[in-house]
Amino acid sequence: MSKKKKKGNLLMKVIFSSSILTIAFFMVIIIACLMILDFFGANITDNYVENNMDYADMYKETVNKALKNGFGYVPLNRILYFYLENDKLSFYEIYYDNIDKDSNKMLPISDVCSLQKYKIYDVCKDLDSSDQIDVDQNKPFNPPIEFNKITVTSFFMEERVVFGKNDVHGGWDLACGNKTPVKAVCDGKITNVSFPYSENVTDKNGGGGNQIFLECQIDEEVTYKVIYAHLYPGSAKVTNGQQVTAGMEIAGVGTTGYSTGPHLHYQVELNGDKVDGMSLIDFSDKIPNPSTYPSLQPITPQYPTLPTRP
Ligand SMILES: [Zn+2]
Repeated sequence: MSKKKKKGNLLMKVIFSSSILTIAFFMVIIIACLMILDFFGANITDNYVENNMDYADMYKETVNKALKNGFGYVPLNRILYFYLENDKLSFYEIYYDNIDKDSNKMLPISDVCSLQKYKIYDVCKDLDSSDQIDVDQNKPFNPPIEFNKITVTSFFMEERVVFGKNDVHGGWDLACGNKTPVKAVCDGKITNVSFPYSENVTDKNGGGGNQIFLECQIDEEVTYKVIYAHLYPGSAKVTNGQQVTAGMEIAGVGTTGYSTGPHLHYQVELNGDKVDGMSLIDFSDKIPNPSTYPSLQPITPQYPTLPTRP
């Protein structure tokens, strides 16, 4: 017995005698603990999905298809809310089910959960503890660009690699041709027109490149700051301090600054915090195309069927 203990003590001595081994020893334990706690899985909050890289491509394909077909916006966290319970559902089917076909807005979570196919889901059983949006959302913004002209290449809070570096994206990248018109999202005031680039070229140290900031006061308490970045040289149609109206063309798309190709980087901030600018856009003038409705597929019978009532 005492012999065994001695051996153990010797092992600990060897481990702790080297600081590198000590660090490695604790790292292994910490990583093992985190794995047990599923730290590396998707963690969903009301507007953010941690570790979203695994879902990024599938989500972008879905959101592009939906926007091209005239649907409003459903964020990744809402899709995963259902998908993580049943991965037999397609992202597009969930997207479709979460859109109110009249207002073209995302439905409150309790409305989705009242649909027959979702009633039996565990995530629909305790909506009080759900962090999903359960109100009719206010949509104060006009589109910053014509959505039938763009392809979403990066979404808000996407974890991605740009020029070989990892980052978390603070806005939306909407790719399209150079000089595509960029529009004011609100009746508001231009607070910054910065066009240091006279050539439409990438500069890895150039941040947002040519930029315009627009201030959108929604009410006494809420004022959004909208950032349009990577704009085309010489394309500014507004000046600092100018009042603009929603829908007015303010500049053209370019690829100036930290950019890999022509696109609009559309970013919105509230009190200095980045918020999901896509969730503020009113898509009600779009008409969803019924020919693209997904065929309703039967859900895998892993849930008990509900008793039918007479
Ligand atoms: Zn961007």
